[in-house]
Amino acid sequence: MLLSWPKPYGDECLSSWLSRLARENLCDPYLFVKHHFQTNLWAKDIDKYLDDKHLSVICSITPYPQSQITKLLMPQYKFYGIERTPNNNSEITLLNTTLVGFRKTKPWLQYCPLCLKESPYYRRHWRLAHVTVCPKHNIKLYDRCFRCAEPINFHRLDVRHDSMLRCDKCLVLLTKAPIIKVNDTALISLTKQIITANEQHWIKWQSLDIHSFLLFKGLAFLVKGIRRSIFCLLCDQLKDQRPDYTTLSLSIRFEIMSIIARLLSQWPENLVALHKSQYFCQSAFYQETRHKWPYWLHQVMRTKLSKEYCHVSEDEITQAIKLLIKMGYAPSQPNIGEILGKDRSFKIPKRLKSKFASQVKQETHLMRVFSWKN
Ligand SMILES: [Zn+2]
Ligand SMILES: [Zn+2]
Repeated sequence: MLLSWPKPYGDECLSSWLSRLARENLCDPYLFVKHHFQTNLWAKDIDKYLDDKHLSVICSITPYPQSQITKLLMPQYKFYGIERTPNNNSEITLLNTTLVGFRKTKPWLQYCPLCLKESPYYRRHWRLAHVTVCPKHNIKLYDRCFRCAEPINFHRLDVRHDSMLRCDKCLVLLTKAPIIKVNDTALISLTKQIITANEQHWIKWQSLDIHSFLLFKGLAFLVKGIRRSIFCLLCDQLKDQRPDYTTLSLSIRFEIMSIIARLLSQWPENLVALHKSQYFCQSAFYQETRHKWPYWLHQVMRTKLSKEYCHVSEDEITQAIKLLIKMGYAPSQPNIGEILGKDRSFKIPKRLKSKFASQVKQETHLMRVFSWKN
């Protein structure tokens, strides 16, 4: 039997509330879950998903209905019938972590020191990788302890420690973190939109009603495009595309989100302006996801960014094929398009199609003969 049931805050994440529940009942969070759930829930990402069996345990020991507890979880888009892919969750770009023992070894939760000071609990939207500032206090968030740089592991603090707002390693109070002011109004307003989208599932943006899943999907696409183009030039460490966006440090995500905020603040004019600049790499934005763009992006990418159609001469195509083969690339239509300064959706004009096919055949044959001779 529990002694007290702290009320969940509307924007609290489940792990934060469960930790408060344990502490208010004078129990270490680790022992509390072990006793009630017979398993170590802290080894799972319970903010992301908790099955019905465990949810019903929570309902049986507290007076709160399952519908109220479920609201503490991050939204699950697979139930919306929008798109059923295993990656639906990654589209929302939740900060992920790895676990060693019960310790989260990579940042999985961020915090605003001033919000924590006002109300001592961890907010759900601090799990979102696209959120890097606090739109209430206009300051930068932290994704680690400001003193010892360890990720947050509040569930490891036991009841002897007076507050779960301490770093579990060096025990400093996270509310004492230095304040870093942010004056980027575009970024602050975009962050507000992202948080609203996460909570309400729809946002009104320009004249459009956008479902949050499609907003997140579009943001993920823009992040990829920016990392492939501008940032490759500006920031050496991002040349390597392998690290997943959610594992990048807060300061790099902050830079990327500032660029996106600037693009979206005057949309699509700023994207068109960027397109004309030397930093824009057309194919960076057109790779892979071309056919999966959400409509709010598709419209702009297709009408504003696609290079206008102009006739390509037979001679230009021949030269492009020769160049590609010389460079060791396949003389495919998208590659030819790129060489000719079109985007990768470039199509060979109908009247030249048969000539193009024979040209490729001939060149590939020559290439083979050439390599055989050597
Ligand atoms: Zn705040
Ligand atoms: Zn610390």
